[in-house]
Amino acid sequence: MSEEIQNKLKIYNTATREIEEFVPIDADNVRIYSCGPTVYNHVHLGNLRAYVFADTLHRTLATLYPTVTHVINITDVGHLVGDGNDGEDKLEKGSRRDGKSVWDIAKMYTAAFMEDLDNLNIDTENYIFPKATDFIPQQISIIERLERRDYTYKTTDGIYFDTSKYQEYGDFAKLDIKNLSAGERVDMGEKKNKTDFALWKFSPKDQRRQMEWDSPWGVGFPGWHIECSAMSEAVLGKHFDIHTGGIDHIPVHHTNEIAQSICAHDNEAGYSGFVNYWMHNNFLNDKTGKMSKSSEDFLRLQTLIDQDYNPSAYRYLLLTTSYRSEINFSYESLDAARSALNKLTRYLHNAAKIKENIIDATKYRVNVDRYEEFMSHIYNDLNTPAALATMWTMINDKSDHAYATVLMMNKILGLDLSYNQNSIELTPEQETLVADMQEKRKVARAAKDWATSDELRSKLQEMGIEVID
Ligand code: AMP
Ligand code: ZN
Repeated sequence: MSEEIQNKLKIYNTATREIEEFVPIDADNVRIYSCGPTVYNHVHLGNLRAYVFADTLHRTLATLYPTVTHVINITDVGHLVGDGNDGEDKLEKGSRRDGKSVWDIAKMYTAAFMEDLDNLNIDTENYIFPKATDFIPQQISIIERLERRDYTYKTTDGIYFDTSKYQEYGDFAKLDIKNLSAGERVDMGEKKNKTDFALWKFSPKDQRRQMEWDSPWGVGFPGWHIECSAMSEAVLGKHFDIHTGGIDHIPVHHTNEIAQSICAHDNEAGYSGFVNYWMHNNFLNDKTGKMSKSSEDFLRLQTLIDQDYNPSAYRYLLLTTSYRSEINFSYESLDAARSALNKLTRYLHNAAKIKENIIDATKYRVNVDRYEEFMSHIYNDLNTPAALATMWTMINDKSDHAYATVLMMNKILGLDLSYNQNSIELTPEQETLVADMQEKRKVARAAKDWATSDELRSKLQEMGIEVID
């Protein structure tokens, strides 16, 4: 692979807080892990931001490397809301709420998640979706390793990771461990340090949990963080390229993943590290702040679909802002995104005939300058707002070149631009214009003025209006 390609993509690495050139471990197979949803409820629009971001990254890497192996895990083990003895198990809570077994709950919300991805044009074929419950032995095995290396201790409710034994603990998130939660009461239980976390929890003695497993420490269930260490290692190997998630994962979940994974293998012969680049998307906020699952009245993608929005309008809305900036969700901005998407759909309606042939560059040459300008924004830490601006400069060009170029750009944007008459909304002025043009065309046809009739037909088609005689 040429030097030029190797240094093309630049990304912001949370680990160094710097924009870095992306250099893969193995240029033939780039490996990514994206933290997946906990399937005790539907995912909300905020969660989906994390996967649209991951998909934009995936599509970008696919332009540079022949294989991108990308994991999105499914957290189907219920974890306690808190890390101490307190809190409820999320899946058991969902099970009571919906009157179904935890296994059925997990199955149901996993299927709904897949449907959401599909609606957002995220091709699930491009991803591997391991389930935490299928990787219990691997989770136990990492805990055993940590135990042998003396990083763990036992309390009455479980096996814990002793964060004081890992010198670098908290460096990643720049945590001020000493003053952490100062002034705030933390339920330490039997924990030795505030930041210690459960690797394995024992089932309550007087109660059978719906999900529990045998382990060297007794019947119980894994702590939350260990599943990602186990699944990433099992599917991608000990050392892989990129790990993604929302910024809320930086201080706890990813900090703990790093501690477990590194402490389990550090100093091993041939061990080369855990993750090279950490990438985090910022939040989608609603009126109350970060959109959150526990608030119960969060917005789902299906809610938008039920209100007749094309789900790609939401994808478009996300692309208008850098993944590293916050977005305040509003219907006004969604409407603006929908209008833009409709304009794009109308523009490309005429390109329908070349969609199938887009790869045939000899037939429909792409506007190389514009395409490269677009990609240079994408390769600059996925600057989708700038890339969209470049795309819009093409929109008055009605040549096959231009259509082909915009379609190529859309391979990164991932918008569903399939022509759908119902999805096209006209402003009142446009409606008057269309009615007027249709009337003029009727008159022209009656007078057998085919030239005028054809001209009007193509003008209408450009606006996305189907003309049937
Ligand atoms: P969870 O199911 O809560 O583990 O979340 C799944 C993914 O969504 C994680 O990567 C979270 O960081 C991310 N996430 C959760 N809430 C939001 C939000 N409001 N905006 C953006 N990402 C979020
Ligand atoms: Zn994770």
